Amino acid sequence: MGELNLLVVDDSDVQRKFALDLCRTIGVSRLRDASNGSLALDQLRQQHADVVIVDLEMPVMDGVELIRHIAKESLARAVIILSSKDPVLISSVGTMAEADGLPVLGTFNKPLNQDLLRCGLKQLGSLTAQKDPSQRLEEVTADDIGVALRSGYLTLYYQPKLTAKGLLLKGVEALARWHDPVKGTISPAQFIAVAERHGLIDVLTRHLLEIALQQKQQWQRRGVSFNVAFNLSPLSLADPALVDWIAKLTAQYGIASGEITLEVTENALLGELASSIQTLARLRLKGFGIAIDDYGSGFANAQQLSRVPATELKIDRALVHNVATRPQQRTILQNTVEMAHQLQLVTVAEGVEHREDFDLLRQLNVELIQGYFLAKPMPADKLMQWMQTDLAQLRKDLR
Ligand code: C2E
Ligand code: CA
Ligand code: CA
Repeated sequence: MGELNLLVVDDSDVQRKFALDLCRTIGVSRLRDASNGSLALDQLRQQHADVVIVDLEMPVMDGVELIRHIAKESLARAVIILSSKDPVLISSVGTMAEADGLPVLGTFNKPLNQDLLRCGLKQLGSLTAQKDPSQRLEEVTADDIGVALRSGYLTLYYQPKLTAKGLLLKGVEALARWHDPVKGTISPAQFIAVAERHGLIDVLTRHLLEIALQQKQQWQRRGVSFNVAFNLSPLSLADPALVDWIAKLTAQYGIASGEITLEVTENALLGELASSIQTLARLRLKGFGIAIDDYGSGFANAQQLSRVPATELKIDRALVHNVATRPQQRTILQNTVEMAHQLQLVTVAEGVEHREDFDLLRQLNVELIQGYFLAKPMPADKLMQWMQTDLAQLRKDLR
């Protein structure tokens, strides 16, 4: 732990000293401290930290705001969140940080103790080890995207969505993949945002949707039918030509609109609300399914959701992952499912990786399950094989 560069932020002198002492006891030597968020921010902008231990309640700038800044400006590799307030609040701030891409090593009630701290800091190692190597590549440029589009490097993988009860293949989600001959595989997390910033997202979306529809047509010709879900960027929702274009292309490929679901993230629905909702309402009128994606990672409430003409609610991995062992998370999830059902939305749990979580979700009446536990995203030609072998096996194992 000696090499770790750590910053403790707490307005109470006693608590701060206590945390610093604990850090020293477990062998952290590169320590700094600050008594409020704004001072911490000044320090971090001068020199980044590996880990920041943040108290939530502080004057001048509180921990919630500080964490947002740390995430947005990438000022630390991870945070540990402390508070004397209720655990639900602490854990929801944790969810917020992770939604912003900032790993949270622990969310603890005060006082912090040695074991918790050591255990939290240990995770930093696995964080680096686990990190997808493609994430460490330099950012792609707008020109790279142009080349990828023209050269056919961009394609789609498909991840199955199964019914929780009968393990029927209800649909697949199409996920963008970029196989670059030089740079290797580039994840959508790296290039979607770049395309959005450089005005390339509409071209990209159209290119990918055409691939999805072509694929769907091929499956249809082979007599297999399931829904295909496609991700739309929030920016596309502001494009007035989008709806007619999607409807026309879908019809051209001989596909019924009800066989296609368009996914938009919860956060997309908070900004430009009026125009987004108009686009979604028009798509819905034409018969397309509409899924609210990443639900639980942002701040939409039930009332806002009820205004969206959606058919499906996709519960974010942050709420789903490890839910079987986290009672508070389970309560939030259970409420979410009940609310979705009151709004007549089909629920989908994303990012299911463990058998225990799968069993619990089934028990909580979540209709559809998606996640590595059932299947990872795969190329189109693997999917048929997966249906014949792996899916049959899953049905035996999980009956
Ligand atoms: P998303 O829409 O939330 O997609 C689900 C992501 O979770 C996918 O990452 C998928 O591979 C991953 N995933 C699925 N099951 C599990 C699991 O059990 N555990 C874990 N850890 N991860 C799981 P992917 O493919 O890297 O895509 C990342 C995001 O990029 C997507 O998140 C979506 O927001 C965006 N994206 C992907 N394809 C497109 C696209 O064609 N257009 C747009 N606009 N965005 C896209
Ligand atoms: Ca999605
Ligand atoms: Ca999602």
